[in-house]
Amino acid sequence: MNVKDSEHIIAELSDEYEITQNPENADLILLNTCSVREKPVQKLFSELGALNKKNPNAKFGVCGCTASHMGKEIIKRAPFVSFVLGARNVSRIKEALNTPKAVITDLDYDETTYVFKNTRKNPYKDFINIMVGCDKKCSYCIVPKTRGKELSIPMDLIIGQIEKLAAEGVKEITLLGQNVNNYGKRFSVSHPKVDFTDLLREVSKIDGIERIRFTSPHPLHADDRFLEEFANNPKICKHIHFPLQSGSTKLLKAMRRGYSKEWFLNRCEIIRQIPDVSITTDIIVGFPGESEEDFEETMDVLEKVRFEQIFSFVYSPRPLTEAADMPNQVDKQVAKERLYRLQKRHAEILDEIAKNQIGKIYKVLIEEPGMGKSDNFFTVKIPQKDKYLGEIVDVKITNANKHTLSGEVVK
Ligand code: SAH
Ligand code: SF4
Repeated sequence: MNVKDSEHIIAELSDEYEITQNPENADLILLNTCSVREKPVQKLFSELGALNKKNPNAKFGVCGCTASHMGKEIIKRAPFVSFVLGARNVSRIKEALNTPKAVITDLDYDETTYVFKNTRKNPYKDFINIMVGCDKKCSYCIVPKTRGKELSIPMDLIIGQIEKLAAEGVKEITLLGQNVNNYGKRFSVSHPKVDFTDLLREVSKIDGIERIRFTSPHPLHADDRFLEEFANNPKICKHIHFPLQSGSTKLLKAMRRGYSKEWFLNRCEIIRQIPDVSITTDIIVGFPGESEEDFEETMDVLEKVRFEQIFSFVYSPRPLTEAADMPNQVDKQVAKERLYRLQKRHAEILDEIAKNQIGKIYKVLIEEPGMGKSDNFFTVKIPQKDKYLGEIVDVKITNANKHTLSGEVVK
């Protein structure tokens, strides 16, 4: 989502600025920030300091989630920063740029009907926001405080944009939101009743769009109708990012995730019936109150689901969140050691998964010379660097390591 926000900012400024890879030469330096964990926030100030040293004449702007929740504090700590622009105010970049010391962090701002100018790095695929904000109250998470309440983008605007992209040659679209399968819950304009499954069906009717991805769905809203559409719609790629967070029902409750370990496992059992499907996930280790037994429940889900990829992190207490004030914080060392065990076991599982890929034939969109992604989200290399670019080809896998498969084009 931050990558897409950055692309929107770049596009909005493209009539006045061009991109440079060289901060020394820049007239304007923008940092688009994350604040999900503490580390990126610390990095912001060290990065700002270093860039200001390199180029004291540039104009500096801080955008994104850290901008949202720190606001003018950023200018206090780094007075050379000219403006601060929150994650829910991306379309106001020019206003920020033209207002001295602007702090634009309005969490109620509605840009769901604003159609951004667009740029994309890759001619064959693009990402598209289908909603803003998040209405969940996950007790560890700062996102609702940086991106505000959840609003869906009107369906005709989404479809219109994707049709335009398809006409430009885009074949793969990824629908973006914090909670995609809650799409349609609330619009800021009057709108017929629709849900995420309806949206998936409409997107798949667009000629030229051959692959549909989405991230992230919430396990709580993964009802049977949605899973049936996922399984049976041939344009939907057979990869689902399905954020677990913890395998312990007790902790899931404290996290306010709204589902149990059993519900998560049951959903995964249904998903695993789809041939060659991939399930990836996010896991937080060391959430307040996590006992050794709770952690073992997470390890148990890892064994049962055998995720194709995990994004796992030690719990990071965030300002403005409920969990930051919980009394039973887990010792950092204990949490780090659990994370190590989790990642080590997952690396073993991944070795086995990789071996099982040999001999399979996957549909791969060749998006860079000699490389692409399979329908089920493996990175796949082919020997031809000068052929098949932008095509979806069948590749027979002949070699596999943890993160990359390689093979021969068979069709
Ligand atoms: N909306 C998505 C996640 C957005 S944040 C969802 O609900 O799945 C991306 C990931 O960051 C989360 O899935 C979670 O695993 C992680 N995360 C969020 N807050 C965190 C915190 N305080 N400490 C550690 N990881 C966190
Ligand atoms: Fe954060 Fe939960 Fe919303 Fe995801 S669903 S963004 S984890 S509050």
